[in-house]
Amino acid sequence: MKIHEYQARQLLSDAGVAVPAFAVAENVAGAVAEAKKLFDSGITEIVVKGQVHAGGRGKAGFVKLVKNIADAQAAAEFMLTNKMVSYQTGPEGLVVRKLLIAAAETIVKEYYLAITIDRSRHTSTLIASAEGGVEIEVVAESNPAAILKVPLHPLVGLQAFQAREVAFQLGFQGKQVAQAVDIMMKIAKVFREKDASLVEINPLVVTPPDAKNPDGRVLALDAKFQFDDNALFRQPAVQTLFDPYEENPAEIRANEFGLSYVALDGDIGCLVNGAGLAMSTMDIVKLHGGEPANFLDVGGSASEEAVTEAFRIILGDTRVKGILVNIFGGIMQCDKIARAIVSSAKTVGFKVPLVVRLEGTNVDAARQILADAQREIPAMQTATDLTDAATRIVAAVRAAAGDAGCATGCGCAAKAN
Ligand code: GDP
Ligand code: MG
Repeated sequence: MKIHEYQARQLLSDAGVAVPAFAVAENVAGAVAEAKKLFDSGITEIVVKGQVHAGGRGKAGFVKLVKNIADAQAAAEFMLTNKMVSYQTGPEGLVVRKLLIAAAETIVKEYYLAITIDRSRHTSTLIASAEGGVEIEVVAESNPAAILKVPLHPLVGLQAFQAREVAFQLGFQGKQVAQAVDIMMKIAKVFREKDASLVEINPLVVTPPDAKNPDGRVLALDAKFQFDDNALFRQPAVQTLFDPYEENPAEIRANEFGLSYVALDGDIGCLVNGAGLAMSTMDIVKLHGGEPANFLDVGGSASEEAVTEAFRIILGDTRVKGILVNIFGGIMQCDKIARAIVSSAKTVGFKVPLVVRLEGTNVDAARQILADAQREIPAMQTATDLTDAATRIVAAVRAAAGDAGCATGCGCAAKAN
C-alpha cells in the first residue's frame, strides 16, 4: 500500500525526523488560506505540491515555489485542474485531489536516502546517494557507483556505525553528520515498526548555515512510504491512511471478494487459481503471441459468487478482447468454476471469446455442465491442455480483430501469409 507525501511527512515528523512546516488543502480556497497562514508567520517562500501516488512531480510542474498569494493560488488552480503526467504515471496521468502547502527551504545540496527490501539478499537495505533530487533510476543506470547500499541485519537493523559510515561517504560535514545519522536511524526504526516495504526521502537536503546551525540543517523535503500489504492487519493506524482514489477501482473490488487482481496492459483476460499458475498462464499467453490484460488469482477456495465477480471485473475492462480460464482443481472444485461460468454468462454475458481449460477435482462434472451450456454460450470453447488453451484464445482474439490467423484453421496463433 502506498500513501501520500503529506501522510509520509507526518509519519516522519512523528518519528522525530525534521520536516518543514506543512498543511494540506483540498481546494483552491483552502490552499490560499494555508498559504496565507504560512506567509503571515513570517515565511517568505512556500512550496505547493500536488499529492498523488507517483513521483516526478517536480518536472511535471506539480511542485511550485511561490512568494505571494496570487502565485500560490495560480499553482493550486493549475494542479487541481490538470492531470499529473510523469515517467511514473503513464500517459493517462493522475488526478490531483489534495495539495501540500509547506514552507520552502533554500537548498545547498540534495541527497537520496531510502530503506527498502533487497529481495536478492533477503534483508532490508539502506540506499543512499549524494546525487539526490533527480530520478534515482537514472543515477542507478548512468552512475551506479554513486549509489551506496548497506544491507541491514535482520534482527538488529541499522547500526549507528553503519549510518555514520554512510554519512561520511555521502560527504556530510561537521554537524550535518549527526543530523544525517539521526535521520537514518529514525527512518530505519519507522520502517521496521510500521512494516514498511519502502521509506524514501528524495531529496534529503542541507540548508544554508544560519546563526543557530553553522553547518545548516539536514531536512526531508519529499517523503514516500510503501507498506507490506500482508502485514496491514497488524497496522491499524497505517490502514487509515489508505486513499481509494489512488487505487484501481477493479483492484479494490477484487480485494473485497478475496481475489488477487492486478490490471495489466494487454487484451486477454486471465482467470486462474493459484499465483504460480497465474504466472505460468501469463507466460504461455505471451509465448503464443498474446498479451495478458490482468493477473487474476481466485485462490483455492473462492465461492461461486466470488468467481462470478471475477468475471464481472475482467469483463468490466473494455480492453479485454478474450478470456482464458485456466483452473487446476485441487481444493478448488472445477464444477464450481463451471457453474460460475454458466451463471456469469447469464448475468454478465460473454461478448468476447472465452476459452476454458479445467483439470483436477470434479473435472468430469464440470465438463458436463459446460457441455450442457455450450449452446447458450456460443463464445465459449473448451481446451484440452494449457498450450491448446493459449493458442485458441490468441487465435480467437486475432480472428475477432479481423486478423485471419493460421490458414489451416487449426486454432494455432501463426499468422496467415
Ligand atoms: P518529486 O519530483 O515528485 O519527487 O517531488 P519533490 O518533492 O522531490 O520535488 C522535486 C524537486 O523540487 C526537488 O528535488 C527540489 O529540487 C524541488 N523542491 C521541492 N521542495 C523544495 C523546497 O522547499 N525548496 C526548494 N528550493 N526546492 C524544492
Ligand atoms: Mg522527490
